[in-house]
This record gives sequence, C-alpha cells and structure tokens, in this order.
Amino acid sequence: MEARVAVNQQKYRDNQQHIVSAIGDYGAASQAFTWCGLPRVPRGNEGQIVAGTLSKKDMTDLYSIAMVSSSGEARRVYDEIMVRANGRCPFCGGIGQTSTLDHFLPKANFPLFSVLPSNLVPCCKDCNTGKSSSFGTQAHEQPLHPYFDAAKFFEQRWVHGQLHRSDPVSISYFAAPPEDWTPLERARAFAHFVDYKLAGRFGIQAGAELAKVVDQRKRSLRRLQAADFRDYLMDGATTNSSDLNGWNRTLYATLAATAWFCEADFNDPSSYLP
Ligand SMILES: [Zn+2]
Repeated sequence: MEARVAVNQQKYRDNQQHIVSAIGDYGAASQAFTWCGLPRVPRGNEGQIVAGTLSKKDMTDLYSIAMVSSSGEARRVYDEIMVRANGRCPFCGGIGQTSTLDHFLPKANFPLFSVLPSNLVPCCKDCNTGKSSSFGTQAHEQPLHPYFDAAKFFEQRWVHGQLHRSDPVSISYFAAPPEDWTPLERARAFAHFVDYKLAGRFGIQAGAELAKVVDQRKRSLRRLQAADFRDYLMDGATTNSSDLNGWNRTLYATLAATAWFCEADFNDPSSYLP
C-alpha cells in the first residue's frame, strides 16, 4: 500500500490471527446461513476492542481510509467487487443501478467484517440507505445474501402480484414463497421483501409500465385476441434481461395470469370495472 493510506499497518499484522479467524467464522456462517450469530457489538463506542488489540475504529477505518479513499491495492479490490454486479442491484431486483458497496452485516455492529469481500455487496443507493439499519438477531429475520443463499431464491418465483380492477388498473406486490421451501427459507424471503421495502418500491415502478401496457392494448394491440395478448404479456414475463422476482417480470407474469385483464376492452371501462 502507498503512503497516503493512513492506517497503522503493523497493528493489523500483529492481529493477523484474529482476522484470519474472523474470516473463517464468516465462511462457516455463510455455509450454515447463521450470520446473525456472529459476534455483534452495539452501535457507537468506536474505541471498543473487537479482536486482539483491534478496536472498532481500527476496523472501520480500514474500510473508509484504506479501501474507499485510497488508490492502493484495497481500492482495486473495491473496484473489482463493484464491477462484478453488472450494474444491477441484487437486493431490489435491479430497480436501482449499483453505485455503492453495502455491508451485508453492517459495519456498525459487525466491524470485524468491514473489508471482507464476501460481506461487501454492490447495490443501489436506495437499498443501501433504505434498509432497516439493524441486522436481525434470529435466523428467520435475515435477508438474502446474494453470494451464498440457495439458487432457488433467485431462480424460483416467490414474488407475486395481484391486479386490481380500478381506474387506472393497479397492482400490489407480495411475497409468497413456494410451499415446498423450508419454513426458514420462506421466512427469510418475507424478511427480505419487508427489509428492502419491495412492495412499495415495486408498486411505484409498475405504475408507469402498467399504464403503458393498457395504452398499447387500446391502440396498436387492440386487434389481438385475448389469448394472443396473453402470449404477448408472457414474453415480458419470461425475458432474461431482468430478474425473475423483480418488479417488471412479476408485473407481466401477473398480467398474463389475470384473465379479466387479457379480455378487457380498455376503451370501455365497464368491461372490467366492478
Ligand atoms: Zn437496490
């Protein structure tokens, strides 16, 4: 590292065994999905010793000074992690562009993992600042970890929508994981949905898109039979260009699965309004 990095490197070398052991603990927790059981300290009190002779401040400085503000080796790691994301925030199904690194375990409570790459997830500003600031203390309260959690969370549908016969037509989103998931998996999907406020955020995104689809149906798509219109909507639900459980594909899946929507004549609201 270069001279600009104003951290006491010798102190970290002296405590290397503690850092190595913390990395091992994080790895084991990631296999067992038990991050909530890792050593936790209260917010504040920067001088608190967290391992060996290392204080909380020593560890969080490592992130803010050596990693974020430097141009040395640690910054290169930071930049590499950012690039991994392909620009899509993994927490909100890609609503936001990745612009920051999130500490999956917040550094205010888990300072030992301040610079651990597997604890750093590229995400959007809204997910970083909007999620609940405390990490759940129980296994079922933990949100999803994009690096370690089972593929099923990302490859099976667990976010659904419900369409409302209103003027304009509206959608609400909810979490409903498959029945064959374990109670813990189902609970964690719910926790993730709530933590990242996805119902509200997805709803805001969907409003404009839904209006656009209704407008297309009134004009260029007006001659399509209901079945053909449904096929058109299914295309939007199966595209690989956005996340399966993101707002967009869930919207199209919901529209395609809603018979009255496929059959409605939007030039005659009485055909679908209750
Ligand atoms: Zn996000």
